[in-house]
Amino acid sequence: MMKNYIDIAYLVAAVLFIYGLKGLTSPATARRGNQLAALGMLIAVIATLLIAKVLTPIEMIGGLVLGGAIGALLSKRVAMTGMPELVAAFNGFGGLASALVASAELYRYLGPDQASTLAIEPMSISSMVTIALSVLIGSITFSGSFVAFGKLSERISGNPISFPGMRFLTLLFAVVTVGGAVYMSMGASEFPGISVPVLYALGAVAVASLILGILLVVPIGGADMPVVVALLNSYSGMAAAATGFVLDNTALIVSGALVGASGVILTNIMCEGMNRSLLNVLIGGFGGDSGGAGASTFSTEGKSVTATSADDVAILLTYAEKVIIVPGYGMAVAQAQHQVRELADLLIEKGVDVKFAIHPVAGRMPGHMNVLLAEANVPYDLLYEMDDINGEFDSTDVSLIIGANDVVNPAARHDTASPIYGMPILNVDYSRNVIFMKRSMRPGYSGIDNELFFGDNTRMLFGDAKDSLTALISEVKAS
Ligand code: NDP
Repeated sequence: MMKNYIDIAYLVAAVLFIYGLKGLTSPATARRGNQLAALGMLIAVIATLLIAKVLTPIEMIGGLVLGGAIGALLSKRVAMTGMPELVAAFNGFGGLASALVASAELYRYLGPDQASTLAIEPMSISSMVTIALSVLIGSITFSGSFVAFGKLSERISGNPISFPGMRFLTLLFAVVTVGGAVYMSMGASEFPGISVPVLYALGAVAVASLILGILLVVPIGGADMPVVVALLNSYSGMAAAATGFVLDNTALIVSGALVGASGVILTNIMCEGMNRSLLNVLIGGFGGDSGGAGASTFSTEGKSVTATSADDVAILLTYAEKVIIVPGYGMAVAQAQHQVRELADLLIEKGVDVKFAIHPVAGRMPGHMNVLLAEANVPYDLLYEMDDINGEFDSTDVSLIIGANDVVNPAARHDTASPIYGMPILNVDYSRNVIFMKRSMRPGYSGIDNELFFGDNTRMLFGDAKDSLTALISEVKAS
Protein backbone atom coordinates (compact mmCIF):
# COMPACT_ATOMS: atom_id res chain seq x y z
CA MET A 1 0.00 0.00 0.00
CA MET A 2 2.76 2.39 1.09
CA LYS A 3 4.62 1.47 -2.12
CA ASN A 4 1.63 2.65 -4.21
CA TYR A 5 1.62 6.05 -2.49
CA ILE A 6 5.35 6.35 -3.06
CA ASP A 7 4.95 5.49 -6.76
CA ILE A 8 2.23 8.14 -7.08
CA ALA A 9 4.49 10.68 -5.33
CA TYR A 10 7.31 9.84 -7.78
CA LEU A 11 4.90 10.21 -10.70
CA VAL A 12 3.79 13.63 -9.45
CA ALA A 13 7.45 14.62 -8.98
CA ALA A 14 8.31 13.49 -12.55
CA VAL A 15 5.38 15.49 -13.99
CA LEU A 16 6.50 18.56 -12.02
CA PHE A 17 10.08 18.14 -13.32
CA ILE A 18 8.82 18.03 -16.91
CA TYR A 19 6.52 21.05 -16.43
CA GLY A 20 9.42 22.82 -14.70
CA LEU A 21 11.67 22.19 -17.71
CA LYS A 22 8.98 23.42 -20.05
CA GLY A 23 8.75 26.62 -17.98
CA LEU A 24 12.49 27.14 -18.37
CA THR A 25 12.15 27.41 -22.14
CA SER A 26 11.00 31.05 -21.86
CA PRO A 27 12.30 33.85 -19.61
CA ALA A 28 8.67 34.79 -18.86
CA THR A 29 7.90 31.40 -17.28
CA ALA A 30 11.39 30.43 -16.06
CA ARG A 31 10.88 31.48 -12.44
CA ARG A 32 7.68 29.46 -12.14
CA GLY A 33 9.31 26.51 -13.90
CA ASN A 34 12.09 26.55 -11.34
CA GLN A 35 9.60 26.61 -8.47
CA LEU A 36 7.63 23.68 -9.94
CA ALA A 37 10.78 21.59 -10.36
CA ALA A 38 11.91 22.43 -6.81
CA LEU A 39 8.50 21.34 -5.48
CA GLY A 40 8.85 18.09 -7.44
CA MET A 41 12.25 17.49 -5.89
CA LEU A 42 10.89 18.14 -2.39
CA ILE A 43 8.11 15.58 -2.96
CA ALA A 44 10.62 13.03 -4.32
CA VAL A 45 13.01 13.52 -1.40
CA ILE A 46 10.30 13.16 1.25
CA ALA A 47 8.81 10.10 -0.49
CA THR A 48 12.23 8.45 -0.69
CA LEU A 49 13.00 9.11 2.94
CA LEU A 50 9.63 7.67 3.93
CA ILE A 51 10.08 4.45 1.94
CA ALA A 52 13.74 3.98 2.78
CA LYS A 53 13.11 4.65 6.47
CA VAL A 54 16.75 5.51 6.96
CA LEU A 55 16.11 8.62 9.05
CA THR A 56 13.82 9.66 11.89
CA PRO A 57 11.33 12.49 11.13
CA ILE A 58 13.45 14.89 13.21
CA GLU A 59 16.57 14.01 11.22
CA MET A 60 14.63 14.42 7.97
CA ILE A 61 13.33 17.86 8.89
CA GLY A 62 16.75 18.85 10.24
CA GLY A 63 18.40 17.77 6.98
CA LEU A 64 15.86 19.63 4.85
CA VAL A 65 16.22 22.81 6.91
CA LEU A 66 20.03 22.62 6.92
CA GLY A 67 20.30 21.83 3.19
CA GLY A 68 17.70 24.49 2.34
CA ALA A 69 19.52 27.08 4.45
CA ILE A 70 22.89 26.34 2.81
CA GLY A 71 21.25 26.55 -0.65
CA ALA A 72 19.50 29.82 0.19
CA LEU A 73 22.67 31.33 1.63
CA LEU A 74 24.77 30.31 -1.37
CA SER A 75 22.26 31.67 -3.86
CA LYS A 76 22.18 35.00 -2.02
CA ARG A 77 25.93 35.30 -1.58
CA VAL A 78 27.27 34.08 -4.92
CA ALA A 79 27.75 36.91 -7.37
CA MET A 80 26.12 36.47 -10.77
CA THR A 81 29.62 36.31 -12.29
CA GLY A 82 30.47 33.39 -9.99
CA MET A 83 27.41 31.36 -11.04
CA PRO A 84 29.11 29.21 -13.74
CA GLU A 85 31.74 27.90 -11.33
CA LEU A 86 29.01 27.26 -8.76
CA VAL A 87 27.13 25.21 -11.38
CA ALA A 88 30.35 23.33 -12.17
CA ALA A 89 30.85 22.60 -8.45
CA PHE A 90 27.22 21.42 -8.07
CA ASN A 91 27.69 19.09 -11.06
CA GLY A 92 30.82 17.74 -9.40
CA PHE A 93 29.08 17.08 -6.09
CA GLY A 94 26.18 15.43 -7.97
CA GLY A 95 28.64 13.06 -9.64
CA LEU A 96 30.39 12.33 -6.34
CA ALA A 97 27.07 11.63 -4.61
CA SER A 98 26.08 9.15 -7.34
CA ALA A 99 29.44 7.37 -7.13
CA LEU A 100 29.30 7.16 -3.32
CA VAL A 101 25.69 5.94 -3.17
CA ALA A 102 26.39 3.25 -5.80
CA SER A 103 29.56 2.15 -3.95
CA ALA A 104 27.64 1.97 -0.68
CA GLU A 105 25.07 -0.24 -2.38
CA LEU A 106 27.82 -2.63 -3.46
CA TYR A 107 29.26 -2.64 0.03
CA ARG A 108 25.84 -3.62 1.34
CA TYR A 109 26.11 -6.89 -0.55
CA LEU A 110 29.11 -7.93 1.50
CA GLY A 111 28.22 -10.30 4.30
CA PRO A 112 29.16 -9.70 7.90
CA ASP A 113 32.24 -11.79 7.22
CA GLN A 114 33.83 -9.23 4.88
CA ALA A 115 37.34 -10.51 5.37
CA SER A 116 36.55 -13.74 3.51
CA THR A 117 36.66 -13.85 -0.27
CA LEU A 118 33.00 -14.65 -0.65
CA ALA A 119 29.99 -12.67 0.41
CA ILE A 120 26.63 -14.09 1.30
CA GLU A 121 24.11 -12.38 -0.99
CA PRO A 122 23.94 -12.90 -4.76
CA MET A 123 23.95 -9.88 -7.01
CA SER A 124 22.72 -9.67 -10.60
CA ILE A 125 25.03 -8.66 -13.46
CA SER A 126 22.75 -5.74 -14.36
CA SER A 127 23.03 -4.35 -10.81
CA MET A 128 26.80 -4.67 -10.95
CA VAL A 129 26.99 -3.02 -14.40
CA THR A 130 24.93 -0.05 -13.19
CA ILE A 131 27.06 0.26 -10.04
CA ALA A 132 30.22 0.26 -12.18
CA LEU A 133 28.67 2.87 -14.51
CA SER A 134 27.61 5.10 -11.60
CA VAL A 135 31.09 5.02 -10.10
CA LEU A 136 32.75 5.52 -13.49
CA ILE A 137 30.60 8.41 -14.73
CA GLY A 138 30.20 9.95 -11.26
CA SER A 139 33.95 10.02 -10.61
CA ILE A 140 34.77 11.48 -14.04
CA THR A 141 32.08 14.11 -13.46
CA PHE A 142 33.44 14.96 -10.01
CA SER A 143 37.08 15.50 -10.96
CA GLY A 144 36.30 16.98 -14.40
CA SER A 145 33.83 19.45 -12.88
CA PHE A 146 36.33 20.62 -10.31
CA VAL A 147 38.93 21.23 -13.02
CA ALA A 148 36.25 23.25 -14.88
CA PHE A 149 35.51 25.04 -11.57
CA GLY A 150 39.23 25.86 -11.23
CA LYS A 151 39.45 27.14 -14.81
CA LEU A 152 36.30 29.24 -14.58
CA SER A 153 37.28 30.78 -11.25
CA GLU A 154 40.81 31.32 -12.60
CA ARG A 155 42.41 29.18 -9.92
CA ILE A 156 43.80 27.10 -12.81
CA SER A 157 45.08 28.62 -16.05
CA GLY A 158 42.43 28.94 -18.77
CA ASN A 159 45.07 27.90 -21.32
CA PRO A 160 44.98 24.33 -22.60
CA ILE A 161 47.37 22.30 -20.42
CA SER A 162 49.14 19.31 -21.93
CA PHE A 163 52.37 17.38 -21.54
CA PRO A 164 54.25 14.74 -23.55
CA GLY A 165 52.58 11.33 -23.30
CA MET A 166 49.25 12.79 -22.20
CA ARG A 167 47.25 10.98 -24.87
CA PHE A 168 48.87 7.67 -23.93
CA LEU A 169 48.16 8.26 -20.24
CA THR A 170 44.54 9.16 -21.00
CA LEU A 171 44.16 5.98 -23.05
CA LEU A 172 45.80 3.95 -20.28
CA PHE A 173 43.42 5.20 -17.62
CA ALA A 174 40.47 4.72 -19.96
CA VAL A 175 41.51 1.07 -20.41
CA VAL A 176 41.94 0.61 -16.63
CA THR A 177 38.50 2.18 -16.04
CA VAL A 178 36.69 0.02 -18.61
CA GLY A 179 38.70 -3.08 -17.64
CA GLY A 180 37.87 -2.59 -13.96
CA ALA A 181 34.18 -2.12 -14.76
CA VAL A 182 34.14 -5.31 -16.87
CA TYR A 183 35.93 -7.21 -14.09
CA MET A 184 33.34 -6.00 -11.60
CA SER A 185 30.51 -7.16 -13.85
CA MET A 186 32.09 -10.59 -14.27
CA GLY A 187 32.46 -10.75 -10.49
CA ALA A 188 28.72 -10.61 -10.16
CA SER A 189 28.15 -13.69 -12.30
CA GLU A 190 31.08 -15.78 -11.06
CA PHE A 191 30.42 -15.55 -7.36
CA PRO A 192 27.27 -16.06 -5.41
CA GLY A 193 28.06 -12.71 -3.80
CA ILE A 194 30.75 -10.07 -3.97
CA SER A 195 34.40 -11.04 -3.66
CA VAL A 196 37.07 -8.82 -2.15
CA PRO A 197 38.91 -8.50 -5.52
CA VAL A 198 35.72 -7.00 -6.91
CA LEU A 199 36.00 -4.32 -4.23
CA TYR A 200 39.58 -3.66 -5.35
CA ALA A 201 38.30 -3.37 -8.93
CA LEU A 202 35.75 -0.84 -7.70
CA GLY A 203 38.58 1.16 -6.11
CA ALA A 204 40.59 0.97 -9.35
CA VAL A 205 37.59 2.16 -11.41
CA ALA A 206 37.03 5.06 -9.01
CA VAL A 207 40.68 6.20 -8.92
CA ALA A 208 41.24 5.75 -12.68
CA SER A 209 37.99 7.63 -13.46
CA LEU A 210 38.97 10.49 -11.18
CA ILE A 211 42.31 10.82 -12.99
CA LEU A 212 40.57 10.43 -16.35
CA GLY A 213 38.21 13.32 -15.50
CA ILE A 214 41.21 15.57 -14.88
CA LEU A 215 43.07 14.40 -18.00
CA LEU A 216 40.00 14.97 -20.17
CA VAL A 217 39.32 18.54 -19.05
CA VAL A 218 42.76 20.14 -18.45
CA PRO A 219 43.75 20.14 -22.15
CA ILE A 220 40.59 22.01 -23.10
CA GLY A 221 41.08 25.75 -23.56
CA GLY A 222 38.99 28.55 -22.10
CA ALA A 223 36.96 29.10 -25.27
CA ASP A 224 35.52 25.56 -25.07
CA MET A 225 34.73 25.67 -21.36
CA PRO A 226 30.99 26.37 -21.78
CA VAL A 227 30.61 23.18 -23.80
CA VAL A 228 32.56 21.23 -21.18
CA VAL A 229 30.36 22.50 -18.33
CA ALA A 230 27.20 21.61 -20.27
CA LEU A 231 28.61 18.15 -21.06
CA LEU A 232 29.58 17.54 -17.43
CA ASN A 233 26.09 18.60 -16.44
CA SER A 234 24.77 15.89 -18.70
CA TYR A 235 27.25 13.36 -17.20
CA SER A 236 26.05 14.14 -13.69
CA GLY A 237 22.50 13.36 -14.85
CA MET A 238 23.59 10.07 -16.41
CA ALA A 239 25.45 9.10 -13.22
CA ALA A 240 22.33 9.89 -11.19
CA ALA A 241 20.13 7.86 -13.58
CA ALA A 242 22.53 4.88 -13.29
CA THR A 243 22.36 5.19 -9.50
CA GLY A 244 18.56 5.28 -9.83
CA PHE A 245 18.74 1.83 -11.48
CA VAL A 246 21.08 0.61 -8.73
CA LEU A 247 18.61 1.70 -6.03
CA ASP A 248 15.54 0.87 -8.13
CA ASN A 249 14.38 4.44 -7.52
CA THR A 250 12.04 5.76 -10.24
CA ALA A 251 12.37 9.43 -9.26
CA LEU A 252 16.17 9.29 -9.52
CA ILE A 253 16.01 7.51 -12.89
CA VAL A 254 13.56 10.10 -14.27
CA SER A 255 15.34 13.18 -12.88
CA GLY A 256 18.78 11.81 -13.88
CA ALA A 257 17.53 11.05 -17.39
CA LEU A 258 16.03 14.55 -17.69
CA VAL A 259 19.29 16.20 -16.57
CA GLY A 260 21.30 13.89 -18.85
CA ALA A 261 19.09 14.58 -21.88
CA SER A 262 18.75 18.33 -21.31
CA GLY A 263 22.51 18.52 -20.72
CA VAL A 264 23.10 16.89 -24.12
CA ILE A 265 20.66 19.30 -25.78
CA LEU A 266 22.37 22.27 -24.08
CA THR A 267 25.76 20.89 -25.14
CA ASN A 268 24.57 20.84 -28.74
CA ILE A 269 23.26 24.41 -28.52
CA MET A 270 26.58 25.53 -26.99
CA CYS A 271 28.54 23.64 -29.65
CA GLU A 272 26.64 25.48 -32.35
CA GLY A 273 27.18 28.80 -30.50
CA MET A 274 30.93 28.19 -30.41
CA ASN A 275 31.13 26.37 -33.72
CA ARG A 276 32.57 23.24 -32.12
CA SER A 277 31.21 19.83 -32.99
CA LEU A 278 30.81 17.58 -29.96
CA LEU A 279 33.30 15.18 -31.50
CA ASN A 280 35.82 18.01 -31.84
CA VAL A 281 35.38 18.91 -28.20
CA LEU A 282 35.86 15.30 -27.15
CA ILE A 283 38.90 14.87 -29.38
CA GLY A 284 40.20 18.18 -28.05
CA GLY A 285 39.84 16.51 -24.67
CA PHE A 286 42.30 13.87 -25.78
CA GLY A 287 45.09 16.40 -25.98
CA GLY A 288 44.09 18.63 -28.91
CA ASP A 289 44.61 22.36 -28.67
CA SER A 290 41.15 23.83 -29.03
CA GLY A 291 42.17 27.42 -29.07
CA GLY A 292 42.01 29.61 -26.03
CA ALA A 293 43.84 32.43 -24.37
CA GLY A 294 46.81 34.13 -25.88
CA ALA A 295 46.63 32.50 -29.29
CA SER A 296 46.05 35.70 -31.25
CA THR A 297 47.68 36.29 -34.62
CA PHE A 298 46.45 39.86 -34.75
CA SER A 299 48.79 42.83 -35.11
CA THR A 300 47.87 46.33 -33.86
CA GLU A 301 50.92 47.95 -35.47
CA GLY A 302 50.14 51.28 -37.14
CA LYS A 303 46.49 51.18 -36.06
CA SER A 304 44.78 53.53 -33.67
CA VAL A 305 41.48 53.60 -31.85
CA THR A 306 39.05 56.50 -31.56
CA ALA A 307 38.07 57.24 -27.97
CA THR A 308 34.82 59.03 -27.32
CA SER A 309 32.94 60.62 -24.41
CA ALA A 310 29.53 60.10 -22.80
CA ASP A 311 28.14 63.36 -24.20
CA ASP A 312 29.13 62.46 -27.79
CA VAL A 313 27.58 59.01 -27.45
CA ALA A 314 24.43 60.55 -25.93
CA ILE A 315 24.03 62.79 -29.01
CA LEU A 316 24.57 59.84 -31.34
CA LEU A 317 21.99 57.76 -29.48
CA THR A 318 19.29 60.41 -29.25
CA TYR A 319 19.54 61.19 -32.99
CA ALA A 320 19.47 57.48 -33.89
CA GLU A 321 16.38 55.77 -35.24
CA LYS A 322 17.49 52.29 -34.36
CA VAL A 323 19.88 51.15 -31.63
CA ILE A 324 20.90 47.58 -30.83
CA ILE A 325 22.35 46.96 -27.38
CA VAL A 326 24.81 44.05 -27.18
CA PRO A 327 25.50 43.00 -23.59
CA GLY A 328 28.45 40.80 -22.65
CA TYR A 329 30.46 39.58 -19.72
CA GLY A 330 31.56 43.14 -18.77
CA MET A 331 27.94 44.07 -18.06
CA ALA A 332 27.81 41.21 -15.55
CA VAL A 333 31.10 42.28 -13.94
CA ALA A 334 29.94 45.90 -13.64
CA GLN A 335 26.43 44.79 -12.56
CA ALA A 336 25.20 47.43 -14.95
CA GLN A 337 21.93 45.74 -15.99
CA HIS A 338 19.72 48.26 -14.16
CA GLN A 339 21.48 51.21 -15.85
CA VAL A 340 21.16 49.41 -19.20
CA ARG A 341 17.42 49.14 -18.64
CA GLU A 342 17.18 52.81 -17.64
CA LEU A 343 19.05 53.91 -20.76
CA ALA A 344 16.88 51.71 -22.98
CA ASP A 345 13.71 53.16 -21.39
CA LEU A 346 14.94 56.72 -21.95
CA LEU A 347 15.74 56.05 -25.59
CA ILE A 348 12.41 54.33 -26.20
CA GLU A 349 10.68 57.36 -24.64
CA LYS A 350 12.51 59.51 -27.17
CA GLY A 351 11.14 57.37 -29.98
CA VAL A 352 14.27 55.32 -30.69
CA ASP A 353 13.74 51.71 -31.79
CA VAL A 354 15.77 49.78 -29.17
CA LYS A 355 16.53 46.06 -29.30
CA PHE A 356 18.84 43.76 -27.35
CA ALA A 357 20.98 41.21 -29.20
CA ILE A 358 21.76 38.11 -27.15
CA HIS A 359 24.61 35.83 -28.22
CA PRO A 360 24.21 32.23 -26.96
CA VAL A 361 27.64 32.26 -25.24
CA ALA A 362 27.76 35.90 -24.12
CA GLY A 363 28.89 36.11 -20.50
CA ARG A 364 30.09 33.07 -18.65
CA MET A 365 27.14 30.71 -18.62
CA PRO A 366 24.26 29.77 -20.91
CA GLY A 367 21.49 32.35 -20.52
CA HIS A 368 23.74 34.68 -18.49
CA MET A 369 22.53 37.84 -20.23
CA ASN A 370 18.86 36.79 -20.13
CA VAL A 371 19.07 36.25 -16.37
CA LEU A 372 20.67 39.66 -15.75
CA LEU A 373 18.32 41.55 -18.02
CA ALA A 374 15.32 39.75 -16.51
CA GLU A 375 16.54 40.83 -13.06
CA ALA A 376 16.41 44.44 -14.31
CA ASN A 377 12.91 43.82 -15.76
CA VAL A 378 13.92 44.45 -19.37
CA PRO A 379 10.81 43.38 -21.35
CA TYR A 380 11.35 39.95 -22.93
CA ASP A 381 10.03 41.12 -26.29
CA LEU A 382 13.04 43.46 -26.61
CA LEU A 383 15.46 40.50 -26.41
CA TYR A 384 16.48 38.90 -29.71
CA GLU A 385 18.55 35.79 -30.22
CA MET A 386 21.54 35.97 -32.55
CA ASP A 387 19.93 34.35 -35.59
CA ASP A 388 16.83 36.53 -35.27
CA ILE A 389 18.71 39.85 -35.13
CA ASN A 390 21.82 39.33 -37.25
CA GLY A 391 20.01 40.45 -40.38
CA GLU A 392 19.12 43.79 -38.76
CA PHE A 393 22.58 45.26 -38.07
CA ASP A 394 23.01 46.75 -41.55
CA SER A 395 19.90 48.87 -40.95
CA THR A 396 21.03 49.92 -37.46
CA ASP A 397 22.39 53.37 -36.59
CA VAL A 398 24.23 52.46 -33.40
CA SER A 399 25.38 49.15 -31.94
CA LEU A 400 26.05 49.79 -28.27
CA ILE A 401 28.35 47.06 -26.99
CA ILE A 402 28.33 46.85 -23.22
CA GLY A 403 31.21 44.72 -21.98
CA ALA A 404 31.05 42.24 -24.88
CA ASN A 405 34.10 41.36 -26.94
CA ASP A 406 34.57 37.81 -28.30
CA VAL A 407 30.94 37.52 -29.39
CA VAL A 408 31.34 40.49 -31.78
CA ASN A 409 34.88 39.77 -33.03
CA PRO A 410 34.77 39.73 -36.88
CA ALA A 411 37.95 37.60 -36.94
CA ALA A 412 35.61 34.67 -36.29
CA ARG A 413 34.20 35.26 -39.79
CA HIS A 414 37.28 35.68 -41.94
CA ASP A 415 40.56 34.98 -40.08
CA THR A 416 41.21 31.30 -40.64
CA ALA A 417 44.24 31.51 -38.30
CA SER A 418 42.13 32.79 -35.42
CA PRO A 419 41.28 30.28 -32.67
CA ILE A 420 37.67 31.49 -32.78
CA TYR A 421 37.42 31.18 -36.58
CA GLY A 422 33.99 29.79 -37.48
CA MET A 423 32.27 30.81 -34.23
CA PRO A 424 29.00 32.56 -35.13
CA ILE A 425 29.10 36.20 -34.03
CA LEU A 426 26.74 39.16 -33.81
CA ASN A 427 27.32 41.22 -36.98
CA VAL A 428 27.71 44.56 -35.17
CA ASP A 429 30.39 45.70 -37.63
CA TYR A 430 27.66 45.99 -40.30
CA SER A 431 25.95 48.81 -38.39
CA ARG A 432 26.60 52.51 -39.08
CA ASN A 433 28.24 53.21 -35.73
CA VAL A 434 29.78 50.88 -33.18
CA ILE A 435 30.32 52.00 -29.58
CA PHE A 436 32.40 49.74 -27.32
CA MET A 437 31.97 50.31 -23.58
CA LYS A 438 34.85 48.66 -21.77
CA ARG A 439 37.66 49.66 -19.43
CA SER A 440 40.71 49.12 -21.61
CA MET A 441 42.06 47.50 -24.77
CA ARG A 442 42.33 44.16 -22.99
CA PRO A 443 40.92 41.15 -24.82
CA GLY A 444 37.97 39.05 -23.65
CA TYR A 445 37.78 35.48 -22.39
CA SER A 446 39.46 33.86 -25.39
CA GLY A 447 42.49 36.16 -25.08
CA ILE A 448 42.18 37.29 -28.71
CA ASP A 449 42.51 40.90 -29.81
CA ASN A 450 39.54 42.43 -31.56
CA GLU A 451 40.14 44.20 -34.90
CA LEU A 452 36.79 45.93 -34.55
CA PHE A 453 38.27 48.29 -31.92
CA PHE A 454 40.18 49.84 -34.84
CA GLY A 455 37.24 49.97 -37.27
CA ASP A 456 36.43 53.26 -39.06
CA ASN A 457 32.92 53.31 -37.62
CA THR A 458 34.01 52.27 -34.10
CA ARG A 459 34.40 54.49 -31.04
CA MET A 460 35.61 53.38 -27.61
CA LEU A 461 33.91 54.68 -24.47
CA PHE A 462 36.48 53.63 -21.87
CA GLY A 463 35.51 53.04 -18.24
CA ASP A 464 33.55 50.72 -15.99
CA ALA A 465 30.26 49.95 -17.75
CA LYS A 466 28.12 51.08 -14.80
CA ASP A 467 29.97 54.42 -14.51
CA SER A 468 29.85 55.02 -18.28
CA LEU A 469 26.14 54.19 -18.41
CA THR A 470 25.38 56.46 -15.45
CA ALA A 471 27.15 59.32 -17.23
CA LEU A 472 25.39 58.45 -20.48
CA ILE A 473 21.97 58.42 -18.80
CA SER A 474 22.44 61.92 -17.37
CA GLU A 475 23.63 63.19 -20.77
CA VAL A 476 20.62 61.65 -22.54
CA LYS A 477 18.29 63.13 -19.89
CA ALA A 478 19.90 66.55 -20.39
CA SER A 479 19.67 66.42 -24.18
P1 NDP B 1 34.38 38.62 -23.33
O1 NDP B 1 34.91 37.80 -22.22
O2 NDP B 1 34.83 38.33 -24.70
O3 NDP B 1 34.69 40.16 -23.07
C1 NDP B 1 34.25 40.80 -21.92
C2 NDP B 1 34.79 42.21 -21.96
O4 NDP B 1 34.18 42.90 -20.87
C3 NDP B 1 36.29 42.28 -21.75
O5 NDP B 1 36.96 42.54 -22.95
C4 NDP B 1 36.47 43.38 -20.69
O6 NDP B 1 37.30 44.39 -21.21
C5 NDP B 1 35.06 43.92 -20.48
N1 NDP B 1 34.81 44.23 -19.08
C6 NDP B 1 35.13 43.51 -17.99
N2 NDP B 1 34.75 44.13 -16.88
C7 NDP B 1 34.15 45.28 -17.28
C8 NDP B 1 33.54 46.36 -16.59
N3 NDP B 1 33.46 46.40 -15.25
N4 NDP B 1 33.03 47.38 -17.30
C9 NDP B 1 33.11 47.38 -18.66
N5 NDP B 1 33.69 46.38 -19.36
C10 NDP B 1 34.19 45.35 -18.67
O7 NDP B 1 32.79 38.56 -23.19
P2 NDP B 1 31.67 38.12 -24.23
O8 NDP B 1 30.41 38.13 -23.43
O9 NDP B 1 31.76 38.93 -25.48
O10 NDP B 1 32.04 36.65 -24.64
C11 NDP B 1 31.94 35.58 -23.76
C12 NDP B 1 33.18 34.75 -23.81
O11 NDP B 1 33.17 33.88 -22.68
C13 NDP B 1 33.26 33.88 -25.04
O12 NDP B 1 34.59 33.71 -25.43
C14 NDP B 1 32.69 32.56 -24.53
O13 NDP B 1 33.14 31.48 -25.29
C15 NDP B 1 33.24 32.53 -23.13
N6 NDP B 1 32.51 31.76 -22.18
C16 NDP B 1 31.14 31.73 -22.24
C17 NDP B 1 30.43 31.01 -21.34
C18 NDP B 1 28.95 30.93 -21.47
O14 NDP B 1 28.37 29.89 -21.20
N7 NDP B 1 28.30 32.01 -21.87
C19 NDP B 1 31.10 30.27 -20.24
C20 NDP B 1 32.55 30.41 -20.23
C21 NDP B 1 33.19 31.13 -21.18
P3 NDP B 1 38.13 45.34 -20.20
O15 NDP B 1 38.92 44.45 -19.33
O16 NDP B 1 38.93 46.20 -21.09
O17 NDP B 1 37.09 46.13 -19.43
